[in-house]
Amino acid sequence: MPDEVIAVRGARVHNLKNVTVEIPINKLTVVTGVSGSGKSSLAFDTIYAEGQRRYVESLSAYARQFLERMDKPEVDEVVGICPAISIRQKNSTRNPRSTVATQTEIYDYLRLLFARIGQTCCSNCGRVVTRDTPESVADSILQLPDGTRFYVMFPASPAAEETSASSNGSAKQKKRSREQQAAQHTKINAHLMSLMQRGFTRLFKNGSVIELETPDSFTGNSFADTFVLVDRLAVRDDVRSRLVDSLEICYQSGEGQAVIQLAGENRRMSFSEGFECKQCGIRFGAPEPRLFSFNNPFGACPTCQGFGNTIGLDLDLVIPNRELSLAAGAIDPWTKPQYDWAQKDLLKFCKQEGIATNVPFRQLSRDQQRTIVKGRNGFDGIIGFFDWLETKKYKLHVRVFLSKYRGYTVCPDCGGSRLRLEARLVKVAGKTLPEVCAMTSAEAAEFFSDIKLSEEQLAVAERLLYEIRSRLKFLNDVGLQYLSLDRLASTLSGGEAQRIQLATNLGASLVGALYVLDEPSIGLHPRDNDRLIRILKDLRDIGNTVLVVEHEPEMMLAADKVIDIGPGAGELGGEVVFSGSPKEMVESGQSLTGKYLRGELEIKPPKNRRLLGPRALTVKGAGEHNLKGIDVTIPLGIMVCITGVSGSGKSTLVHDVIYAGLKKQRGEWTGKVGSFGKLEGSQFIDDVVLVDQSPIGRTPRSNPVTYIKVYDAIRDLFASTREAQARGFDASHFSFNVPGGRCERCEGNGVEIKEMQFLADVELICEECKGMRFKSSLLEVKYKGRSIHDVLDMTVREAMLFFSNINRIAARLRVLDDVGLGYLRLGQSATTLSGGEAQRVKLAAYLSRRTSERTLYIFDEPTTGLHFDDINRLLAAFRQLIEAGGSIAIIEHNLDVIKSADWIIDLGPEGGDEGGRVVAEGPPSVIAESPASHTGRYLAGALKNYSQRE
Ligand code: ADP
Ligand code: ADP
Ligand code: ZN
Ligand code: ZN
Repeated sequence: MPDEVIAVRGARVHNLKNVTVEIPINKLTVVTGVSGSGKSSLAFDTIYAEGQRRYVESLSAYARQFLERMDKPEVDEVVGICPAISIRQKNSTRNPRSTVATQTEIYDYLRLLFARIGQTCCSNCGRVVTRDTPESVADSILQLPDGTRFYVMFPASPAAEETSASSNGSAKQKKRSREQQAAQHTKINAHLMSLMQRGFTRLFKNGSVIELETPDSFTGNSFADTFVLVDRLAVRDDVRSRLVDSLEICYQSGEGQAVIQLAGENRRMSFSEGFECKQCGIRFGAPEPRLFSFNNPFGACPTCQGFGNTIGLDLDLVIPNRELSLAAGAIDPWTKPQYDWAQKDLLKFCKQEGIATNVPFRQLSRDQQRTIVKGRNGFDGIIGFFDWLETKKYKLHVRVFLSKYRGYTVCPDCGGSRLRLEARLVKVAGKTLPEVCAMTSAEAAEFFSDIKLSEEQLAVAERLLYEIRSRLKFLNDVGLQYLSLDRLASTLSGGEAQRIQLATNLGASLVGALYVLDEPSIGLHPRDNDRLIRILKDLRDIGNTVLVVEHEPEMMLAADKVIDIGPGAGELGGEVVFSGSPKEMVESGQSLTGKYLRGELEIKPPKNRRLLGPRALTVKGAGEHNLKGIDVTIPLGIMVCITGVSGSGKSTLVHDVIYAGLKKQRGEWTGKVGSFGKLEGSQFIDDVVLVDQSPIGRTPRSNPVTYIKVYDAIRDLFASTREAQARGFDASHFSFNVPGGRCERCEGNGVEIKEMQFLADVELICEECKGMRFKSSLLEVKYKGRSIHDVLDMTVREAMLFFSNINRIAARLRVLDDVGLGYLRLGQSATTLSGGEAQRVKLAAYLSRRTSERTLYIFDEPTTGLHFDDINRLLAAFRQLIEAGGSIAIIEHNLDVIKSADWIIDLGPEGGDEGGRVVAEGPPSVIAESPASHTGRYLAGALKNYSQRE
């Protein structure tokens, strides 16, 4: 029997040229090829899209009605497709409350776990609150020595009816109290009658039993300290079931109360069916799953509504620079002349308490810092100062002053845990739910692996523990062991978000599905690649088909099948150049990828490295997130790589500290800046730019040529034709951003967006202009026989030829080709560019600027989406920037880029708390010899191969 396959015949999506391929079922297949060759068009836009359609087809009739309106991929036939799930890079979290734990469903299981086996601890005394069942009471009573005699009872009168008949005072009051006494007597009699009718004939009071012949046998005037006797027993092996029955009677007739009195002794034990502290009598709500949900008003902290923070005094704004000493004005509000007295008070207080006022604030002990914030011994502290200001808020200038120090701060009630008090009183194995969520996934895995529970708890929780443990294991397997469970999903990088989805899908253990993944190795250090490959194989081995778009050589070699798309990009690609096992690919060396894998082609590190110059940027005391107050020097004028395992602190250092810090110094930043002491050397740079992967525009009206500003020259050219002048068209008519020449129905977009209820929005070609974006009169204007629409439809390469005699256009277009984007169409809308393409369009824009002198360019994984062959070009573009006087700092995991760097700063050694230090710095050869550096180990391999082949 032939192996089962998904057979694609005649795929023509985007640039695909009638592609026919087979994806083996239950195998791991890698699709590779140069950037723009058509990998995503095949994997996502054809195979996944078709799987998605079939899946919708199998759903309800309601969902099906939208089916015919979903775009059908341009393909003759896809046979054997299964329901498809795509895992892409985009961090698409919309819910601001979503966390790592909620996204992976770990939180759902934790809620159930806490609801089922959690122990509530009394808010007053901390004792465990229990509910006594007749069985549990019987168990504890039968622990008493054999033969111990005892009474089973319940309080004669419910506490609420208790009226204390204290009487004294005036005659009037006496008369009233006589009336009250009579009423009380009637009430007592009625209650006794009802007890007797139910068969209770004995009371117990003050150590003796009262036999009730008639109600009058009881002479007391209240039921205080009086009990109804249900049974008399002695501890023996065979009394258990009778005892349980009697206790049940107590609960039924005594409003959930039962009392055991030892005969002839003064010892008495109270039990209650209710969920309350036996010591303090405080009643609690029994834990239930919704109590632990911060998305549910029942469980959310009422103060912050489950967001974990509120607007309030932001200490980071009050003490913006912890490098300053108290004397030098660390407390910002007290540096203002009108609050000079507060600064004087502070200095006096510090002298008194022996707190140093001439060392950086951050060097003070925790206790000293807290004292300054909270106050002590007559000194009000920062909080006291602001409380006092609050009372002066009727003055406008005070309100303005206060607003400068307000920001999002941790909710004072729930401490950021987002849950109401009742939920935070519940513990499992000594930890509350917020405490568990504050753990990293590695810590949580350890906690749950050797958790100590009673037999009973284990029986209830076994299944839940299994689910929690396996999900934690998946998180660790995908290399996210350093993320805390309560980390907000919105703060994760694209790669981290993708790997969370991967872990979640592994947890769901769906079988018979097709998983399509987009470069899952992004953001992963080579060290963690093995684990990632292992996971994809696991996904396959439980019975799924896995299709991965990937450039990483190890992943290709580990696959069951490799499909190489190419040979070039865009029009020059779109064909299957190789399809077979990785072994065959290496052996045949037929395709470009195969040649790189064989080592026939390679990325050579430069012969000479650039040397350190005198210019450098130094940050001191960087302490944001996991950074350990480190000093880091970035040499300028050369190519610097910042490396380290995922979570080691690269983004924190480069984005939050260096980029934001430099921008802030230049007055171009109002957002948050990561904490650091000093940033030196900024006099050496005139500009700092972050070349990231965010889109170059959000409307179809932005495109590569508008972004690199070459479109203006093209418009001018069209406006200068005789035809245009005869009709009175100027350059603005050739813009699709302003009315005039553009199609007004679609406002120059060429498409109309239709919002679908629950499916992704769909784009429909504009009916008026048929996607040509301009009015027909304008399209009649031709340059060298082509309309403006024809030009926008050319690829960059075609356009370079077409405009070859007009240097100001051709030269700029060449820059796009230089960064490997020669295949893009001039008018391809910004919304269809991948993150990597957008990043390279930006790079091109900077390359085409006249001056890159004294500019620091920051890149974050610029190799995303790049094939070996593209990386060579990228490195050439970097060289160009440096030769023009620029400086480059790159966050990167790709060894081909790292080995080509002039200088490396390796962070780590691990991710999360175990990272945040500089492990090694220097040129690649130095890092390669550093035993402590994970990067060094892999780099040594990459450099060794190179010198062997020299
Ligand atoms: P890869 O995944 O190999 O980088 P793609 O499949 O994304 O390549 O792109 C193949 C070609 O199709 C490229 O020329 C690209 O510009 C083009 N393309 C991709 N998406 C769209 C789209 N939505 N509309 C038009 N062209 C597209
Ligand atoms: P890298 O870029 O090396 O992968 P990051 O700088 O992203 O590492 O992360 C370093 C540490 O800081 C990690 O422990 C990470 O979980 C933590 N971290 C990063 N961003 C945030 C954030 N917004 N909130 C809380 N912790 C964060
Ligand atoms: Zn208590
Ligand atoms: Zn239109």
